Amino acid sequence: MRTKVLVLGANFAGLTAALAVQRELPGEVDVTVVSASDHFLFNPSLIWLPFGKRDRADITFPVAPTLESHDIEFVHAAATGVDPVAKKVTIDDGRELGYDYLVIATGYRNKTDVVPGFAENANTITTLAEAERTGDAWRRYLDDARGATGPREIVIAATQSAGCFGAAYEFLFNTSYQLKKAGLRKEVKLTYVTSEPFLGHFGIGGLPHGEQLLRMFLKKEGIEARLSVGLDHVDDGALVLADGERLPFGFSMVVPPFLGQEFLTTSDGLADDKGYVRVRPTYQSEKYDDVYAVGVAAAVDVPWQTPTPVGIPKTGFPTEVMAHTAADNIVAQIKGETPTHTKEFGDIKAVCVMDAGNNGVVILADKMLPPRKHGVLIPGPQAHLMKLGFEKYFLWKMRNGHVQLP
Ligand SMILES: Cc1cc2nc3c(=O)[nH]c(=O)nc-3n(C[C@H](O)[C@H](O)[C@H](O)COP(=O)(O)OP(=O)(O)OC[C@H]3O[C@@H](n4cnc5c(N)ncnc54)[C@H](O)[C@@H]3O)c2cc1C
Repeated sequence: MRTKVLVLGANFAGLTAALAVQRELPGEVDVTVVSASDHFLFNPSLIWLPFGKRDRADITFPVAPTLESHDIEFVHAAATGVDPVAKKVTIDDGRELGYDYLVIATGYRNKTDVVPGFAENANTITTLAEAERTGDAWRRYLDDARGATGPREIVIAATQSAGCFGAAYEFLFNTSYQLKKAGLRKEVKLTYVTSEPFLGHFGIGGLPHGEQLLRMFLKKEGIEARLSVGLDHVDDGALVLADGERLPFGFSMVVPPFLGQEFLTTSDGLADDKGYVRVRPTYQSEKYDDVYAVGVAAAVDVPWQTPTPVGIPKTGFPTEVMAHTAADNIVAQIKGETPTHTKEFGDIKAVCVMDAGNNGVVILADKMLPPRKHGVLIPGPQAHLMKLGFEKYFLWKMRNGHVQLP
């Protein structure tokens, strides 16, 4: 009988892990992918969607053809429970799927109760549907601002415990760029609110000269900042900060903290209270040798304390590295070997591009988390072009299942 590998999730982590295992052991494994979404989403381009620079068709593709062309079964369903002792996953049509090896790659959901009023009054861009709603709000804002009928202030924020600061910065600078294009930049007060202790911390402790560079970017764009502060609540039309300051807005975008999926919290010994699966450096779960977790679904401890808590950004590059490490270990286990491949999150290289509209910053470091030997930020318009090129390349790579490529 063939070994059954079950993968939950079909985005960066799930697609990579499933295709990598299948590629190593064709004909020897039955790989099945179960995902709540039947489309791959290139989340990094959600920063452009509200401005009409992308729509959902540009940054998604259906995963079934990709998987089926690689002899992987696709089930469009949400997992609702894991029984790691019986080695079964329950899905939302009531079926139970058995496995020999399980890969949990179910990513994130927004912590919508992070502050009162977030769910009702805040726009965000962390999911496709919300980025589309933020696009509606942006268009309404532009109409009102042009007609001088509404408040003109804009606030972009990353709340306490948020980790996805790159997206907040990218959206901030893209907003500034779009305001310039609309001929409104000089008339609009644009403010960045962040839990980071200093500009350019990014949830990874900052990089050499990063703070000065980000300060320069903000000064050049005429953007005000409120640092090291959380939100108290979000009103209809104002962000109220933890220190009591009230920032009225005609348009805002707020990045919340992420959580793992709720169903994982109900399985004994699998996930922490945030729904993230506790893993070893092999990406096996701490408790079960045959259960792996990769990407955002894997727990990573924040290695520092800051006056206002900040989270860790689990970005695309480390997500792919985790998925490949888990795939290599599953292949080893299937061959009867010990799973020895390890790559701790903090030791994975940091490789990221921060877009700023028609400009940007390439971020490179030898390790995601300090202590590091090297780290560099390279600003310039080439960074914007790199992000455009990378989007096209990555969508092509994933759609065609070429997960062995960099
Ligand atoms: C706005 C934004 C901008 C970003 N920009 C960048 C960037 O510039 N560079 C970068 O490197 N990274 C960026 N990231 C981070 C990047 O998107 C993540 O690293 C990546 O999405 C992680 O992939 P994942 O597969 O672990 O999780 P996800 O992308 O969250 O995918 C989870 C998958 O699991 C599925 N799923 C969820 N629940 C269930 C369930 N119960 N059962 C079955 N399936 C389920 C989902 O449908 C989805 O297919 C950005 C993220 C955001 C939100």
